[in-house]
Amino acid sequence: MLSDVGSTLEEMLPAQREAVTHGSGTLLVLGGAGTGKTKLLQERFLWLVHKGSRPERIALLTPSAGRADALRSRLEGRLAQGYEQLFVITPVELAALVLSAERPGVDALDSVLGAGERFAMLLERIDELSLQRHDFGGSANALVAGFVRRIDRLKAHLIGAEDYARWAAGLQLDPEPADAALEREFAEVYRAHERMLAEAHLLDAGDLVRDALKAARELPTRSRHFDYVLLDDAHELEPAPAALACEFGGAGLTATVDPARGSFALPASKVVTLERSVRCPERVLRAACAALYAPAGSAAPGGEVVFWRCANDRAQAQSVAADIERLTAREGVEPGSIVVLVPAVSREGQAVAVALEERAVPHRVVGEAAFFQRAEIRDLLAWLRLLADPSDAAAVVRALARPPIDLRSVDIARCTQIARRRKLDMVAALAAATESPQVPPEARERIRVFLKLYRSGVAALDTTRPDLYVHRLIDRLGLRRHQLFAAQADVVQRLRALARFGELASVYARRAPQGTPREFARSIAAVADSGLREHDEPELGEARAVQVVAIEAAGALEADHVYVVGLQAAVVASAPERIPAALLPAGVPPAQEDRRPALDIALYVTISRARRRVVLCYPGLNDRGAALLPARPLERARTALQAEWEDKQEELFGPAETLHSTYRLLRDELLEGTMRTGGRLGELRFDTDLDISHAVVRYLELLKLAALIARPEGQGLAEALRDVNARILQAVTAEQREILTSSALDDYLLDAERDARRRSQAIAARDEPSLEPFLPKRGEGVVLSASDIDTYRTCPLKYKFARVFRIPQEPSIHQRFGILVHQVLERFHGGEGNGGTLAELLGLLDARWRRAGFGDSEEERQLRGKAAAALQRYHQRFQSEEAEPLWFERPFTFRLGPHLLRGRVDRVDRLPGGDYELIDYKTGRPKSSAQLVEDVQLSLYAVGAREAWSLDASRQAYYYVLDDEKVSVDDDSGDRAAWIQEVAIEVAEGILSQGFEPTPAYAVCSACDYRLMCPAAER
Ligand code: SF4
Repeated sequence: MLSDVGSTLEEMLPAQREAVTHGSGTLLVLGGAGTGKTKLLQERFLWLVHKGSRPERIALLTPSAGRADALRSRLEGRLAQGYEQLFVITPVELAALVLSAERPGVDALDSVLGAGERFAMLLERIDELSLQRHDFGGSANALVAGFVRRIDRLKAHLIGAEDYARWAAGLQLDPEPADAALEREFAEVYRAHERMLAEAHLLDAGDLVRDALKAARELPTRSRHFDYVLLDDAHELEPAPAALACEFGGAGLTATVDPARGSFALPASKVVTLERSVRCPERVLRAACAALYAPAGSAAPGGEVVFWRCANDRAQAQSVAADIERLTAREGVEPGSIVVLVPAVSREGQAVAVALEERAVPHRVVGEAAFFQRAEIRDLLAWLRLLADPSDAAAVVRALARPPIDLRSVDIARCTQIARRRKLDMVAALAAATESPQVPPEARERIRVFLKLYRSGVAALDTTRPDLYVHRLIDRLGLRRHQLFAAQADVVQRLRALARFGELASVYARRAPQGTPREFARSIAAVADSGLREHDEPELGEARAVQVVAIEAAGALEADHVYVVGLQAAVVASAPERIPAALLPAGVPPAQEDRRPALDIALYVTISRARRRVVLCYPGLNDRGAALLPARPLERARTALQAEWEDKQEELFGPAETLHSTYRLLRDELLEGTMRTGGRLGELRFDTDLDISHAVVRYLELLKLAALIARPEGQGLAEALRDVNARILQAVTAEQREILTSSALDDYLLDAERDARRRSQAIAARDEPSLEPFLPKRGEGVVLSASDIDTYRTCPLKYKFARVFRIPQEPSIHQRFGILVHQVLERFHGGEGNGGTLAELLGLLDARWRRAGFGDSEEERQLRGKAAAALQRYHQRFQSEEAEPLWFERPFTFRLGPHLLRGRVDRVDRLPGGDYELIDYKTGRPKSSAQLVEDVQLSLYAVGAREAWSLDASRQAYYYVLDDEKVSVDDDSGDRAAWIQEVAIEVAEGILSQGFEPTPAYAVCSACDYRLMCPAAER
């Protein structure tokens, strides 16, 4: 031990040694990125122990639990002597330690509610909040999540609800009364939040730190709990936890700070400055500092910084994945030494994960969003949701499609058809399906298993403890058992995720002893949607896979290779909630975001994670085709290094990649299929032999791929395929031979030009019966509306869920609102075009409001106010327009080849010059003409008007009713008509060939009703 510390000290730079061996008095260690601050604290801890301090008398504080775990295990490995306990903890854990000491036997952390749980609490009791001033903006969830963030930030500044209310009350003379009223309303929300916590005898982390600070100040001897407090990355702490650290540290406090990222006041302390970066090589450090306008210290020469301008999001994700595959497969780089940093895990992170998966690169997506996107967690959520609400069709369909039920698509379609036709909820429809002759016996058996699980689950839903219930549910569904059939690398993570879900239920049960599984189901579903749970943290030690991590969680990471994606000018690094300056307690510095743009800091942090190489990229086009520019700090970094952009395009797979990615797909399918086939062996069927042969052939195909991947260098694929096939065919039965030779796999492999969709189709087509009876066909063709075309083009799988399965969906409040506004306008014009008085129009709104199922919640009241104001503007505009309205809600139908296209135009006007204009009403946010370049709806309407009514409409426009804005779709003569017809035929052919592969994209998936059941939206 002695020689260990001694030799480490010898290896240190003089400034580091000075800080490690500092004697008494507070010490502030200043150092930029990679200057070894954390290591220094670790060495100081060991040196203090070496000098005689007891390890349990030293606290090492870090901003997050993940960092504490990593540091603790490093210290455990270095400490030779015994100790009672190592206190490597977060400030919140320190606060809990203090308060628990006051009440022996009680763990203060047990009564702390996290952000997600408080979000669920507020959402459930939203009727108790008075919200007349805040705009719901289309989502109560987003509004409530914003409240929770704001409250947490205020508490981190020790600003209580009453402080805030007093300040808001004093705003009466403010020149902007609307803002003052908004602040007062928020003050009441803050009070309600506190009242709800108090009623449940619960706290949040802010309360815990506040109470601990108060206790420490009242009884100064408590601060003697530790002789030394070593505080890492003090610049990341908010004022309250920082004050707590200072209170406990006293004269024994050592704090490390990166002055480029923030400040930490420690008056009258000794200051040691670390100048040299021991992590980042020179070019990497220069790029990081240029992003932040910070002076670069010294560093070892070298390092590589690459700038990629990618064609679009997909090209960006593909380029990153291809480069990582090159590093890991050809250069022997360990996947764990690579990280990909993304602005949002749920957005860019998913795209990168999909691209990595396509290349079979082991990876781990880190973040709470990722936890709730895991397949096994979605399975559990689906079951909890459907048990609590049998009309939740999305949850029922997911449960049916997944193990242990594994109902085939075609049978799910039969069941949704029964639900629709008989107007039953999905569970009742399933009970009816067991009696239906349309449903084959094997499917009926599976449905009975579902119903048995459902009934046993429902029976205990209001009586069992939530944690016991969840454990039993996991067992009954066989989720743990099923994981044994997952790919080896995933097993541990999946089992861990299930265990963690069980822990969430245990925590809920502890905090709400009277809570039922039904309430837990509602709460956890809301938490899953909130995006508010604390982030999962990346592995800081030896990771075994590439980590895909949110930029904001990158603080303590380091890796040899770092990729930072999504650095376009519009990207916004998450900035903390604003605190009114007048509320800041004396001595608290202004918030960091006032001094430096959050994105500059974020880029400095992310670049400086790299030990060797960093790749910085942005997409040149967004998903609507609009051009994007690089973010400013990115341009600064590039200019500082005088580097050029490298252009990256979307890539087609090369043959080797095809083999690897197909191998991965087949491997997953084989593991899932084994479970399915095994589950069917006990059934009384005549074709069990065939099932077994199919399973064996799948295994042989996997073997074939492995042989092709390992074929001798220089041997062509076709030649190798011939050899491998010949060998495999020698060893199979006649039935297996037939299945093998009719497989589409060889064709696919030989044609490397085909895309991933064709590959998936080639694999999936072998197992699933046709959905033909459920396609919306008329004769040989399909029936299509503009919205069908739009849905299919957005995502073919979404189309399958919505139009083939026709999964019953409760319309959202905004969908109902849109329908209502349309109905009111339709009634108002009464088909004649003259309309009536404003009073009549508003009277129609009144009359239909209740009938449309709207109530008196704040959100509904707000919507009603918006509708009334919009209708007034509409009336005014309608009276003053020169155009002559001819028809309202006029339908059309026409044939396009074998297909039938149909639609209904909201309004047709004759313009003063004699031209016609087609108008469609919208209640969403207005789009610009540029965003409507590829507009399907009005383009189709123009063709429909010509074909069905012989009317050439030279103009088409959307009228955004709530904003009183009319946006025209540019009509470039016949081009648009030809284009939409081509599109319609392409879509129709896709539907007829049952091409329902998902095309996930964040903007679409985040608003998709079928997320829960979609395999593309999970990890
Ligand atoms: S979640 Fe995304 S990929 Fe899945 S169906 Fe919906 S839009 Fe398609």
